[in-house]
Parts: sequence; structure tokens; C-alpha cells
Amino acid sequence: MEDKWALEEHLSTAENNKLWDSAGEAARNGEGYMDYVETHLLDVQDRLQIMDATGIERAIVSLTAPGIQSITETTLAVQVARETNDLVRRKYVDQHPDRFSFFACLPTQDGQQAAAELRRAVRDLGAVGALINGYTNVGDASSGRYLDDDSYEPLWAAVADLGVPVYLHPREPLPAQQAIYAGYESLTGSAWGFAHETATHAIRLMLSGLFDRHPGVQIILGHLAEGLPFLLPRLEHRLAKQKDGAGLGVARRKVSEYFSDNFYATTSGHFHTRTLFNTLAELGVDRVLFSADYPYETMEEAASWFDNSLLCANDARKIGRDNARRLFSGIA
Ligand code: ZN
Repeated sequence: MEDKWALEEHLSTAENNKLWDSAGEAARNGEGYMDYVETHLLDVQDRLQIMDATGIERAIVSLTAPGIQSITETTLAVQVARETNDLVRRKYVDQHPDRFSFFACLPTQDGQQAAAELRRAVRDLGAVGALINGYTNVGDASSGRYLDDDSYEPLWAAVADLGVPVYLHPREPLPAQQAIYAGYESLTGSAWGFAHETATHAIRLMLSGLFDRHPGVQIILGHLAEGLPFLLPRLEHRLAKQKDGAGLGVARRKVSEYFSDNFYATTSGHFHTRTLFNTLAELGVDRVLFSADYPYETMEEAASWFDNSLLCANDARKIGRDNARRLFSGIA
């Protein structure tokens, strides 16, 4: 397929690299791998050549994790988010408007500031939505504020008002929650911990009543929805049994209804056809989108898997391009 769109494609900036403590990631992932990733996060020309070679017409790029969400000072987060969005617009979209769109990064340290930056990025810079890397550190690296917090109401109101999706991207679990990986640190990140962390974050949003207040809000999850297509039915089954229990949230509908109406899944970093079919069985073909997760994954592997994944041509067109064009219609 020659004109795919891909939407979990990451970049970095010199400023982000200064703030980004990648030592832990290098230790867990291997120095050679992280050298490749860090070089390619900054590059544009190589990226374009690989897009040409793998049939990716448009990439929606975003600042790599943990990005703005790991900055512990609100003023700095506001400033770096603003400068990053301006830079991404100049370096990617202005230079190659027919190849790149972008998701804004947001200073989620403050709900009002995050809402203001989203409005600015969408209206003034043409961002097609926002990508948020999980919980936000507020004050120090051991604290985490999730997006169901009351302070994010202005942000969700802006998301609903603008009609743009939010990509909920993983980050590593909070330090206090990493005990289960002790002795197996390789599980903390993308191999396992990312999915557990991000799926739980998505469930918090479902149970919080967010989608009752803002039924039009759309969340995109990567990695074939972080295990939710397989696990959400049991969650719903057990919550129904616990209906008189504590901590059930205030949601008015079943989690499966929010999953169907408010979530999209991308294929980023999860190139396994039987899991894709399970995701299609739960979400339907209109809510699954092709992505690679470059440069943590290669576009070659993503594209060659997708182009040979036994999908019928009609479904491949929807997942590879048409669903994204519809989701971003008028804004990309
Ligand atoms: Zn990613």
C-alpha cells in the first residue's frame, strides 16, 4: 500500500534531549539501540526517505516520551511546550506540508495552561490534536497526576470544543509502582510496563465520567490499545459483580460502550496479525489505524507486516489511510 498514514511517529529537540534523562532507558534497552533512536529522533531527511520506501505518505509526528509530562516545574513546562510546538511546525510542517502533520505537546502540569496551549497549537499552528505521555509529574519525579483529575476539566472542554483527538501515549510507571519489576528491569518500559500503565490510565478516564460530560472526546491508544481489547470484557464482567463496592467511579455507561464510542487503536509497535484481528473484533474496522512508532520501531517492519497481514483490500485501505483521513478531516 503506497499512501499509508502513520500517527505514532516520534521526534525530539535539542532542548528536550537536555531535559530527558535517557540513561535509564539506555541501560535497559541497550546503548546501541538508544544511539540509533536518539539520532533518528532529530533527523528529517532519513525519515522522509524511509517513508518513501515503505509507502507512508503522511506521518503525524509528536515529541517523544516522557516529554513535557516529566518536567517538574510548571513555568518551564509551559515554555518548553510552546517552543517545541513552534519548532515542530517550522521544521516539519512548514518544510514538508504534504508529508507531515503534528500532535501538540501540552504543559499538563496545569489544566488551564494545557487548554490554552492546545487552543493555540490547533488554531494558530495547525496541530491535529495532542499527544500526552501518560501521567504528569507535578513538583517531583515520584508524583503522578492522571488525566481524570478535576484540574483537567478546562483541557477536556478545549478538546471537545476543538474536535481534535488526544493520543494517550505510554510512559514508565511511577517509581513507587515498579516493585513488581525488581530483578526484571527490562519489563518496566515498552516490553510490558507501558501497556499496564496506559491501559489503566485509559480505564480511569472511562470510569471518571469524562465521556458522559464530553461524549465527543476521542482518545487514540497505541500498541493495539495496550491489551484492552482482550482484557476489557473481563473488567466489565467483574465490575458488574462489584456494583455495590467502593471506587467504581461515576461513569454512567459500561466501559465497553466508551471503548466503542470514544477510543481508536493504532498498530504502533505491535505487529502481530492475530492480535490485530482481536482488536478489530472489539473495536471494528473504522477505529483501527496504521502506525509504526518510529524510530523505536522501524517503518520497514511495520509496513511489511501490515502490507502482508491477510487483511482484505477494503479493510487495509481503511486502517492504512482512510480512517485517519476521516478522523483528521479538515484539520490535516
Ligand atoms: Zn511511541
